[in-house]
Amino acid sequence: MRFASLGSGSRGNALVVEQELTRLMLDCGYPVRETERRLARLGLVPGDLAGILITHEHSDHIAGAYKFARKYGLPIWITHGTLKGFAGDASDLPQINIIDSHNAFSVGELQLLPFPVPHDAREPAHYVFSDGAKRLGVLTDTGSSTSHIEAMLTGCDALVLECNHDLDMLMNGEYPQALKARVAGRYGHLDNRSAAALLASLDRTRLQHLIAAHISQHNNTVELACEALAQVMGCAPGWIGVADQDEGFGWREILWLTSWLRPWRRRPGPERQRVRPERQVQQRLQEQRHPSRHLLLRLRRGQQGQQARARARLQVPWPVPAVREGEHFGRNQPGRMRRTPRSVLSVS
Ligand SMILES: [Zn+2]
Ligand SMILES: [Zn+2]
Repeated sequence: MRFASLGSGSRGNALVVEQELTRLMLDCGYPVRETERRLARLGLVPGDLAGILITHEHSDHIAGAYKFARKYGLPIWITHGTLKGFAGDASDLPQINIIDSHNAFSVGELQLLPFPVPHDAREPAHYVFSDGAKRLGVLTDTGSSTSHIEAMLTGCDALVLECNHDLDMLMNGEYPQALKARVAGRYGHLDNRSAAALLASLDRTRLQHLIAAHISQHNNTVELACEALAQVMGCAPGWIGVADQDEGFGWREILWLTSWLRPWRRRPGPERQRVRPERQVQQRLQEQRHPSRHLLLRLRRGQQGQQARARARLQVPWPVPAVREGEHFGRNQPGRMRRTPRSVLSVS
């Protein structure tokens, strides 16, 4: 599973999530031409999309959605409240799917787990995307966190998290008083400190990607947002990704962290020779004093394989740079490694 952003902020939002051949766009806050241009930046054409999910009716999330869906015959998934709340004419849309923001559904190879958020819209819903094993949580446009939001986002492999404003900058800034109260209110937007507090309440052991999103250009800076999240993670601020208003961010892949443990398991016959023999891997891990080096023996003996794998995942040091996974196999490209098990299994 991989994901990328076309842009994020009060002047427009759109995110693309891809699992195998299924690609969904979350929100479409840009005009049609601009959306096409930004998709092209990611190597996509509108025909690559399976549809559009809409979080709520604010124009920075929905402005281009209907026109884009009409032009390319794309289905839309939307809550009843958002559909009613948006003034646009939905009568001749190719396909409208009304979702219940508490019920999971799937589109192609992607599972969607929507959840409601407190925001000043009719029925806003955000999403956790899953391929059944890995999960990407996306949360923007929420005035505050709830225990339900925390339950949805805990244990995710990747998070796109709103860091809208710095409370001091907002309060000392030039916004009119009413707007300040709206943005900082329970149904407004998440400030850096609240985002950090939400993050701190989550299980972060699986997190491979953390991206600060919907950053205000008037009341926040990238540095403040990243610093707030980095403090919770105990990492350098530079590791935190940023969803930029103009640039969004490029593709980020969610890796199966224990894939380097898999190739020699349940691999019959000559296919074994395609991958580095188990003993060499063990040796390599010993040399590197890798935290998972002791687990290989247990896996080989077939003892508590599930548990060992789960623990191996937890013991991989955080944060895990994408290249480290492939390094265990030296010659192999990380991308190739990930695909090896499936293609190998399909041979004879
Ligand atoms: Zn917004
Ligand atoms: Zn909004």
